[in-house]
Order: sequence, then structure tokens, then C-alpha cells
Amino acid sequence: MQDIYALSDKTIRRLNKLAIRRFRDTEKKCGAGLMPFDELTIIREVRQLYADLDADNRKAFLELAGSVYNGTTPHGDVKPDQFWLMALLKEYSPVTKYVYENEVNRKRDYTTEAVIAAVDKSKEFKRGLLYWGKFVSAYSDIVADEAALQAFKDAGVKRVRWITEGDNKVCDECHDRHGEIYPIDDIPPKPHVGCRCRLEAVK
Ligand SMILES: [Zn+2]
Repeated sequence: MQDIYALSDKTIRRLNKLAIRRFRDTEKKCGAGLMPFDELTIIREVRQLYADLDADNRKAFLELAGSVYNGTTPHGDVKPDQFWLMALLKEYSPVTKYVYENEVNRKRDYTTEAVIAAVDKSKEFKRGLLYWGKFVSAYSDIVADEAALQAFKDAGVKRVRWITEGDNKVCDECHDRHGEIYPIDDIPPKPHVGCRCRLEAVK
């Protein structure tokens, strides 16, 4: 059995490195303290920044989904494609309590306004990066979970068992679910972002 969260962590680290560079470049393009920030430049550059970050995510998430799918036992033979990912990112997530696509736009607008309004622009770029990092972590895990679930479904698995990490960081709600068996179409959503409980196919 592979650890899908090790794969997710690798994706998160890679995306975070990219995001750090992109935020830094955008800050430079917006003036970086050398001259007064121009509002239209900020709007344009921040819009481009979030479009690029989103594209980075989609590329990396698709690769992650493929690796998780193929590494899951059992799995089918219809590897997640970009349409699969697109559908997932358009869906409301009961874990994050929002839709991925809406949240990208919300974060972009928030950063744009904060940078325009703030005296310390740099601080707002840093804040934007911090929030983006949390967002990427949450969705990387969701993509990994969904790809593993898709692999089970494609392989004809009917029931799954909930398995916690078994350490002392497991929350009460997850602890109570440990070992529970659910029909594959009726699995309760993860109770919180960052939950790394996994599902096991029941024969
Ligand atoms: Zn959990």
C-alpha cells in the first residue's frame, strides 16, 4: 500500500515553491517600493498571478491524481483526466465548505484590494501567499482522496473501511469512525481540512 499523503505532500511542496516565486515576481512588477504603486498595474498583475497559480495547481493536481489512482489497490483503468479534475474543482467541497474555482477568484480579489489599500504592500503579498499555501494544501489532499476513491469505484469496490492515522493527533470524530464500514456511495465527508484518514477497500 502506498501513502497517498506522501504524494500529496510532494505536490504541496512543489506548488509552494512555485507560488513563492510567482508572488515575489508579481510584487516586483507592481513596483516593490521603488515607485508608487499604480492601481491598474496591481489589478492586472494580481489577476495574472492568480491565473498562473491556478494553472500550476491544475497541472500538478492532475499528475497527483494519476499517481494516486495507479498506486491504489484495487484500481480500474480509466485514469483521472482533466475533465475529471475540472468537475471536481467546480464542485462544492463539504470539507473546505466552498468551491475551488470561486475561492481562487475570492482570494485574487481580496489580495488585489488589500495590496491597493495597504501602506505596507509587501505584507499583503506575504499574507496572500500564506493563504494560498493553506488553500493548496487542502485541495491537494482532496484531490488525492478523490482519486483513490475513484480508483475503488472503477474497480467495482462496494464498501470501504475508514482508517485513521492512529496517532494522538486524530480528532474525536475521526477516532469514532475508525474501522467503520461505509457503502462506497455513502461515505461521510471528512470532518475537517487536514484530515488524513484513509479508506480501505472491503472485500
Ligand atoms: Zn480524520
